Amino acid sequence: MKVHEYQAKDLLRAAGVAVPDGIVITSPDEAAAAFTKLGGGLIVVKAQVHAGGRGKGVAIGPEVDRALALEIASGVKPRPDGMAKGVQLVKTAEAATHAAASLLGKTLVTYQTGAVGQAITKVLITVGHDIVKELYLGLAVDRALQMPVLMATTEGGVDIEQVAHETPEKIHREPIDVGLGLQDFQARKICKALGLSGPTAVNGAKFLKNFVKFFLDTDASLAEINPLIVTDKGEVLALDAKLNFDDNAMFRHKDIAALIDVAEEDPNELRAGQSGLSYVSLDGDIACLVNGAGLAMSTMDLIKYHGGEPANFLDVGGGANKDQVLEAFRILLGDPNVKAVLVNIFGGIMRCDTIAAAILAAYDEIDFTIPLVVRLEGTNVEAGKKLLDESGRKIITAVGLTDAAKKVVAAAKGAA
Ligand code: GDP
Ligand code: MG
Repeated sequence: MKVHEYQAKDLLRAAGVAVPDGIVITSPDEAAAAFTKLGGGLIVVKAQVHAGGRGKGVAIGPEVDRALALEIASGVKPRPDGMAKGVQLVKTAEAATHAAASLLGKTLVTYQTGAVGQAITKVLITVGHDIVKELYLGLAVDRALQMPVLMATTEGGVDIEQVAHETPEKIHREPIDVGLGLQDFQARKICKALGLSGPTAVNGAKFLKNFVKFFLDTDASLAEINPLIVTDKGEVLALDAKLNFDDNAMFRHKDIAALIDVAEEDPNELRAGQSGLSYVSLDGDIACLVNGAGLAMSTMDLIKYHGGEPANFLDVGGGANKDQVLEAFRILLGDPNVKAVLVNIFGGIMRCDTIAAAILAAYDEIDFTIPLVVRLEGTNVEAGKKLLDESGRKIITAVGLTDAAKKVVAAAKGAA
């Protein structure tokens, strides 16, 4: 689960991590008051969307061609005068109002959003700082090491992907023992690598320790501070913050789960989650309904192996009931790209006749106009097959995984 920058900063501030003060607004009318309340001076007006690259991004109305906007946001084409950036520095209340108006109600296109962009409904007005050093900090789980790894580099700012690609040796990596957190010697090592010394290094070490503790305490899966800055007063501050949390741990962080912005989430994934289904939408045209994550992964592999493209990952779980299966079908068939459906069930706890009954119920409830391939195996398989065979519905049955994959790929290509 992702949160907005302003939410990430609120969480980090509460955990003792230094971030600038800010106020979120939803209408340009609120900008001047926020500017004044924050003490004026240098103020930054920032679009709140779940995507990076806002500084180089463009906020546009419906009149601007999205593909062109993406080229500008990616630096392929020059930015025309007057085209608003997603992050703007202002020095007067009027300029703050103007900046907020250039963002709210517009669409932000960045190299991360793609040409569709994301609607801007919230803007963060935050205290600006003069930057002496622009650094980068990232925390992610390294699957090979099976540990979180803190990454730090002096090459902060907007082009971290380029640094990682071209000069990876400039990124200092420090594995974190989850039982111990970041130890003092590690914090000192990173501060040294970042060129921090004296009181600034003390501030830096405090920042790092609280940041790592926050990451571990909240079951975060990714945390990125870019830029992490050093001010002329030697303060160490997070000017930007991106946080992702482990969905499977959200049941024990109700406060964080409550921060979800449904407008930023895939509506089908949300709907599936409410029914206890694990669903991830993909770009292909073959919908999959499978029980068990491992079987779902291998089903997708087989579809690709036989020349098809899966439209989704969907695991109905080991003990799904008829209502869940029905809801799963509704979600799958709601995707206009879907040209064929593959049901691949290995009946263990889930009985094949339950699935067969649900398939038939779905047929009656939903207008099934696309080919449906079904492969059943396991508990009550004979009863399940019998139900399907005797139903008179147009269902393509398959024996084994390869047969199922080949049949559904052919069906999606219109050969069934
Ligand atoms: P992103 O482009 O989505 O990663 O958004 P950021 O929050 O990182 O802002 C983009 C860029 O705006 C930063 O890399 C900075 O260069 C600049 N910026 C943001 N806040 C400030 C600030 O307080 N002072 C100055 N001088 N620049 C800032
Ligand atoms: Mg940034």
